[in-house]
Amino acid sequence: MGDWKNIDKVSLAQETKEVLKTHGITLNRRLGQNYLIDDFKRKKIIGFADLSPQDTVLEIGPGIGTLTIPISFKVHKLVAIEQDPCIAHILKKRLEEFGSGNVEVITGDALKIDFPVFNKIVSNLPYQISSPITFKLLEHNFDQGILMYQKEFAERMNAPVGSKHYSRLSVMLHFKATVELLDKVSPQSFIPPPRVDSTVVRLVPKKDRKIDNFFTRVCRALFQHRRKKAAKSLLESFHEIGDLDKKEARLIIQKLNPVLKEERVFKLTPQQILDISNNLKHLLKQ
Ligand code: SAH
Repeated sequence: MGDWKNIDKVSLAQETKEVLKTHGITLNRRLGQNYLIDDFKRKKIIGFADLSPQDTVLEIGPGIGTLTIPISFKVHKLVAIEQDPCIAHILKKRLEEFGSGNVEVITGDALKIDFPVFNKIVSNLPYQISSPITFKLLEHNFDQGILMYQKEFAERMNAPVGSKHYSRLSVMLHFKATVELLDKVSPQSFIPPPRVDSTVVRLVPKKDRKIDNFFTRVCRALFQHRRKKAAKSLLESFHEIGDLDKKEARLIIQKLNPVLKEERVFKLTPQQILDISNNLKHLLKQ
């Protein structure tokens, strides 16, 4: 039986290598340049996004258009932000060749550029900006994102309370989005192969995002010592929260709910951390 998946895989790999060779490009790991060469995974990623001609899609780090080009055929519009000007130039030429006239390429750093209006995001992200780009995305309203992250990062995104990967990221995202791990992707699916495994994630923003900057600071203070008791962590990292000396901070922390302040940080649920934060905010106002 012919293995069509494998044939496709070889052809995307060859196509990618040829494009890079023709333009004399050597990919730069520092820029998170790991290009997808696995057509089976490409089809799966695009399938997860459930695209329609009404969609306006944002893509961060399009590279030479491996996702961009097939997505452009399915949607109303796509805006792609690519930092590397040489790669952006190649991408624009390829979009012309493929007749993808509905794609706008913006050359620049996705962390610095204001996002256009979009209702979906599909990206094989540069991993070094995973955290800031995710929080920047979640300042916007959109239907869903299909995003590829480093596996460990994806695991932290939706780790259950008390588990090994439960972290500040898990708590922050709990209030901002629903996170679903969809598929694993091995290093061999990219050139050059990254040193880590990857995971495709579905990210759906929550409507009611009831956290603020104060909560973010409390969360940071707590998770600087995730295995210590909450009271101790808060005391040791109170500089993250407010401008009190140790003595004043201790007095405030003593007034917190005794059950919560004696619990170890990694065992506190996001709601309990929100309770601590609201409680602290109130006490600091007095
Ligand atoms: N989506 C492509 C490429 C993924 S590699 C594929 O699947 O094959 C990630 C891409 O992001 C690279 O092209 C890199 O140049 C680009 N990039 C890295 N940092 C960026 C940033 N801050 N803003 C926008 N693009 C960035």
